[in-house]
Amino acid sequence: MSSLFPALTEALADPDGTAAHRPALRFGERSLTYGELASSAAPLAARVGEAGRIAVWATPTLETAVAVVAALLAGVPAVPLNPKSGGSELGHIVADSAPSLVLAAPDDQLPAALASLARVDIDVRATGPTASPAPDTRPLAPDTDHLADELPALVVYTSGTTGPPKGAVIPRRAVATTLDALADAWQWTGDDVLVHGLPLFHVHGLILGILGPLRRGGSVRHLGRFETAGVTRELSGGATMLFGVPTMYHRIAEALPDDPALAKALARARLLVSGSAALPVHDHERIAEATGRRVIERYGMTETLMNTSVRADGEPRAGTVGVPLPGVELRLTEEDGTTALEAYDGETVGEIQVRGPNLFTEYLNRPDATAAAFTADGWFRTGDMAVRDPDGYVRIVGRKATDLIKSGGYKIGAGEIENALIEHPGVREAAVTGEPDADLGERIVAWIVPADSQQPPSASELADHVADRLAPHKRPRVVHYLDILPRNDMGKIMKRALTHD
Ligand code: ATP
Ligand code: MG
Repeated sequence: MSSLFPALTEALADPDGTAAHRPALRFGERSLTYGELASSAAPLAARVGEAGRIAVWATPTLETAVAVVAALLAGVPAVPLNPKSGGSELGHIVADSAPSLVLAAPDDQLPAALASLARVDIDVRATGPTASPAPDTRPLAPDTDHLADELPALVVYTSGTTGPPKGAVIPRRAVATTLDALADAWQWTGDDVLVHGLPLFHVHGLILGILGPLRRGGSVRHLGRFETAGVTRELSGGATMLFGVPTMYHRIAEALPDDPALAKALARARLLVSGSAALPVHDHERIAEATGRRVIERYGMTETLMNTSVRADGEPRAGTVGVPLPGVELRLTEEDGTTALEAYDGETVGEIQVRGPNLFTEYLNRPDATAAAFTADGWFRTGDMAVRDPDGYVRIVGRKATDLIKSGGYKIGAGEIENALIEHPGVREAAVTGEPDADLGERIVAWIVPADSQQPPSASELADHVADRLAPHKRPRVVHYLDILPRNDMGKIMKRALTHD
């Protein structure tokens, strides 16, 4: 395979050339050009070159980006670790992935779960106020062209929304093809500057948010922590794209009425992209009203990288994740999991299955789970349920395991009920699940965070609200009131935690 990062390869080969002077990464006050990234990552790549697999202590910093690029230059698979994970999850991931060493920033304190691993400090030659001294050697220029397409680039653990995280082995081929497919769909070029506020241990924040701009020869400005003020500052200061998860767009939607500078900044962006979970229609519409811009949604998974997206040259619409990306085959299947549905009627629900060069190779140490995830003819079962509109736009209804409620002979998606509940002025957040019911098979349960905890809307008022908007059989039969919804670090609602308490 040719280089994953042509601009970086150019900078490595010619440290005084134009590519070397292009901006690559900025985290807060610290930034790196492609030349500086090359001279930070190349010595580290030489250091880790012999390792079998390496862990990266994936804080939202320049160090993490440099470490992952170094691993990719060396052809050594990297396992990004979530620094906020508890000891038992870290212990599981370290035991499962068996890295031979861990890369961390010099001032990182590593927890006991990593004590058995040899540590290598990440030395970043950054510019800016806290810069290290300039390098006194020219970068080594590792030749990455010989690295095989199927060589694992990363082992990324799934978010653990539906069960313990599984390590997805992601080959270089999948990284390259998914990023190029997104470039096609989003008209993404080296002139784009991305605003980023996501963690760096999942596909969204790391592969799309860091490796994506680097593959295009463009740049990324990471906010460290997501804040609407940072979005305003960066988009007003020339950034062109924003990637976020729905909780970020929710915060933006809430802030917009009192923040005209934010509205103006968002209106200037070339592309606002949401993913990792469904963007509530209410938030999509509020942002569109205040800024004149529609957020586009893309749909992917750790195992498949990106599958679909609304295209930059397509029609952005609320509640849809768009069309299959170039190279991705997508089908909906009947309940048997093997018969393809031909329906493009916006109504018939089937499981999304995908095939293509964007797919992972296997779950690490889980041949059983890997085998169960594929059909005999090689389709990956996503576990996500969807309908397709006549023009091919995919609308995700929810996950087969937790979001599809079989009640009174109907198959009801949790998502549309959540969207309807959130539109009620007394509701701040909502999640919907099913629970066993003697009459109905399953009954619909709503978990509500009220806008005013002193005056929550009553269960019957919410049931009527849903029945009016959708259909009587979609009304919640049980309502629970909560102060917050349990969410993971990507803002995904942990329905397991709601129903298993
Ligand atoms: P686990 O597999 O460990 O239970 P997870 O599925 O949340 O966790 P990820 O691979 O990070 O782990 O997330 C992929 C899932 O996120 C998809 O299967 C889908 O359910 C959801 N998802 C991603 N993007 C979207 C989107 N735009 N709209 C709706 N759902 C989405
Ligand atoms: Mg999953």
